[in-house]
Amino acid sequence: MSETFDVENLASSLNSINLSLFGKITQSQKGFPKLYFQNYYYRLISANVPKYTWRCVKNYCNVRCSTNGNKIGDEYVVNFESQSTEHNHPSDPIKFVQLERRSKIELKASMCDEPPRKIISEFVNEITDEEEIANSASHNADRLFISRKKKESKPEYLKNMKGLKLLEDGDFLPMALST
Ligand SMILES: [Zn+2]
Repeated sequence: MSETFDVENLASSLNSINLSLFGKITQSQKGFPKLYFQNYYYRLISANVPKYTWRCVKNYCNVRCSTNGNKIGDEYVVNFESQSTEHNHPSDPIKFVQLERRSKIELKASMCDEPPRKIISEFVNEITDEEEIANSASHNADRLFISRKKKESKPEYLKNMKGLKLLEDGDFLPMALST
């Protein structure tokens, strides 16, 4: 009886250790590594290999920490050395999930020509928690986002061709030809 209890206790202790020690390196919108740890984001302020120092992304917040790596997608133990380890602002776990999802959708949209509906369906499973679903951007907003990203990634001549096609279908073609 007491052994079972101990195992459960150990398991939950291990879980909390995992939660409290490891941070994940994500990619910022500009392509730089960004540390995500316990619902807060940090940007890299110095790389003194193997020690990478991070600071909270909020300009008015002074919390700093360090890891021994900055490879995007990897997880590292996060060490706090500064006196101030308390953020002076709330964390944002939902935003993290949405940003991760958006950056994946963006990558996909810029690389392939699949319709937005198909791309969205591939990422629906990524949202599991009910709260996340409630907070996630609407389907329509995702669709508009994908269209915009596709447009941005199209070369100039393709954008112009689209304009030409509109001309052909419209009533203005004869006028355009006559000038
Ligand atoms: Zn902060």
